[in-house]
Amino acid sequence: MPEAVLRRAAAEMLDWHGSGMGVMEMSHRGKEFGAIATKAEADLRTLLAIPANFHILFMQGGGLGENAIVPMNLSRGTIADFVITGSWSIKSQKEAQRYCDARIVASNADGKHTRLPDPSTWQLTPGASYVHLCTNETINGLEFQELPDLAALGSDAPLVIDFSSHVASRAVDWRRVGLAFGGAQKNLGPAGLTIVVVRDDLLGRALEICPSAFNYKTVADNQSMYNTPPTWGIYVAGLTFDWLLQQREGELTGVAAMEQRNIAKAALLYGFIDGSAFYENRIDPACRSRMNVPFFLRDERRNDAFLAGARDAGLLQLKGHKSVGGMRASIYNAMPIEGVQALVAYMREFERSQA
Ligand SMILES: *Cc1c(COP(=O)(O)O)cnc(C)c1O
Repeated sequence: MPEAVLRRAAAEMLDWHGSGMGVMEMSHRGKEFGAIATKAEADLRTLLAIPANFHILFMQGGGLGENAIVPMNLSRGTIADFVITGSWSIKSQKEAQRYCDARIVASNADGKHTRLPDPSTWQLTPGASYVHLCTNETINGLEFQELPDLAALGSDAPLVIDFSSHVASRAVDWRRVGLAFGGAQKNLGPAGLTIVVVRDDLLGRALEICPSAFNYKTVADNQSMYNTPPTWGIYVAGLTFDWLLQQREGELTGVAAMEQRNIAKAALLYGFIDGSAFYENRIDPACRSRMNVPFFLRDERRNDAFLAGARDAGLLQLKGHKSVGGMRASIYNAMPIEGVQALVAYMREFERSQA
């Protein structure tokens, strides 16, 4: 989280804008929270350049919830295509299988998820209800640098993207997207809020079994207030949107400024790792994530010492996911370049200390 956002949320915790109440104490139907939600939605639309024919939904259930909610809303119980690129897309396909014929049309499992399958090789199903893609595989450290153009690949299915772990870190080409979803907790705000951006022609297709609170049309028709939305999450994410819109890098603002910073952060860390004989990253350079950088010590017996020293240096949460092992640096939007510089300085020093 950006420190400025946390400070502002703390300052407004007991009394929001002189209203005499904190956001957690407001009715979600009152005018104060209405103003917060309206501004958050408008700011997110500006920030991500979301076209007018897309609805923004503030939901609950997280990314894993959407793994069920998307097929319940879009599949019509027919076929949906899945591109397997790592841990998260595997989970998505397995869950969707309960609601539809969830077909694997491409997979990088053979190469242990170290490079992305080229779109020209995807075996897309004619007439599929949608194509699912995880555009940033958080655990494996792979990211699509460009969204596939499904129409050019001969498919008229809408593209569904799970952008949980890189939302607002780079621009989205909405011409290629039917629906995007993401949990807010990595790049936008506290856990508990799920962002769904859905093209309006995709509403109204839900299966009969779909819970009303998870039916996109019901949620859209009620401006995300069919039931009580995660008000605190919307408020803090709104503060983050506001903060993001104010970020500048030269001529660039908002997401474009963040993207430039993220490119610089990733280049610094990958550049250091690639130039070292002590550390390694195993991901194809063309597919590397700017947000999540998995890396290994070539001598894994030093892992515990590395992590203990990192903790002492104030560098936290560097242990890799158990399914991959090694280390993982998550350098989300809110991580300043100074944080990456500190990590690289520590890595260099640790290597020296082991000589
Ligand atoms: C973190 C993450 C999720 C999280 O799902 P939750 O249900 O919110 O825990 C889903 N997809 C991706 C790509 C993620 O990185």
